[in-house]
Amino acid sequence: MRKFVLGILVFLLMFPISEIESEAAGSFKDISTNHRAYNEINYLAQGNIVSGTLDGYFRPGKVVTRGEAAAMMGRALNLNGRKRATQFSDVGSQYFASGYIQSAVEAGILTGYKDGSFKPGQIVDRGEMAVIISKAFGYEFGGTLSGAARALISRGISQGTADGSFGADQKIIRADYAIFLARAVNYKLRLTPGISYPADRSVTEDSVPLRTGPSNLYSSLGTLQTGNKVEASYAVGPWVYIRLGSKEGFIHSNYLNAPFGMGNQKILNQQMIVIDPGHGGKDPGAVGYGLKEKDVVLSTSLKLKSYLSRTPFQYKLTRETDKFIELSDRVAFAKQANANVFISVHANAYNGSANGTETYYYASNNSSADSKILASKIQGRLVTAWKLYDRGIKHGNFHVLRENTMPAVLVELGFIDNKTDNAKLASDAWRREAAKAIYWGILDYYKEKGFYVTHLYNK
Ligand SMILES: [Zn+2]
Repeated sequence: MRKFVLGILVFLLMFPISEIESEAAGSFKDISTNHRAYNEINYLAQGNIVSGTLDGYFRPGKVVTRGEAAAMMGRALNLNGRKRATQFSDVGSQYFASGYIQSAVEAGILTGYKDGSFKPGQIVDRGEMAVIISKAFGYEFGGTLSGAARALISRGISQGTADGSFGADQKIIRADYAIFLARAVNYKLRLTPGISYPADRSVTEDSVPLRTGPSNLYSSLGTLQTGNKVEASYAVGPWVYIRLGSKEGFIHSNYLNAPFGMGNQKILNQQMIVIDPGHGGKDPGAVGYGLKEKDVVLSTSLKLKSYLSRTPFQYKLTRETDKFIELSDRVAFAKQANANVFISVHANAYNGSANGTETYYYASNNSSADSKILASKIQGRLVTAWKLYDRGIKHGNFHVLRENTMPAVLVELGFIDNKTDNAKLASDAWRREAAKAIYWGILDYYKEKGFYVTHLYNK
């Protein structure tokens, strides 16, 4: 009986699916089966990642605008595409890609321009496309066009151009964008299809479909069951390409026991980092060679804020101006903000005879283990970048560490009354180095906690 019902169900389910597939496959009037991008365009069309005109044309030779690129990438990565207000002066809430643009910016995949615009109608060239794909799929590329080109070429996503260059400034057309995007999504479409499976995961529910692409619109290749041990290769938004014995395909990361790849982008968006520049207002903090601690730590913290502003993280500062705040109010602020991480920034003083960088954490509360990891990551990055004496990480019984409930550290950048340290504390360029080091330390911490942050280092 059961088999019979199942048989009918399978029949009913298969019929409309094959109809949809036949409609999608080869449905574009201008994409014949021998078109060079036939496979890639139709693969993406199955997942509604690309679509054509209402009268059935794909227009493969048409250039791609930044707005269109955002929409296609956003659909591939399952970003929130709901039309809404954006942070850009030239992208209104009614613009067709407004939701994808805002989501892609929040995910660190796209950036706007310094003047507050996004230029959605601007045409994308191959170089920009390579950067967008590298960021979207988390390829390490060093933040440069050539690095992004290498990332794509080495994965078999792109060839160089005939003259041996990548052709970074050539305009990209829809057929090429589809080819690159489809190859990034599905490695079997690449010029050299080969991938590794760096992570082990297990499946947490029964009857989880394994699919040919990263959305429920793609056909099922079978199902996985609770406890299946799978090997994970790469992520496409919240979907993960996995292997189980001879079976391979996409599974939604919600059904895996731990985050993998870009699947935790949402979780990153939910992390609140509170930066606490010490002292302020009537309290100058330590003083040396005419320099006040309150000014040094505020300036450094504002630079750190600017790094964080280019990431999906949420962040708040206890002060952004020269004002006095009680220690208890700093703790209350962090708790009120539901901070996941608290970083207090200070500079030291001791008769001019001591020097170097040190980071404190509170060693005997519930978040001590994480506080210690955070302290050691920040200290490591600071000592490398800032090049002052390494005084190490230490337990510190400070109010803002002891009374806070989230992982919390207090960074002492250097000794303001020591001549060598003071020179760096006084320098705007060195403060930027310190801010970047703390930022990288935060990323190191999140990386160690299993978050995907690789693409954020070169922000
Ligand atoms: Zn201080």
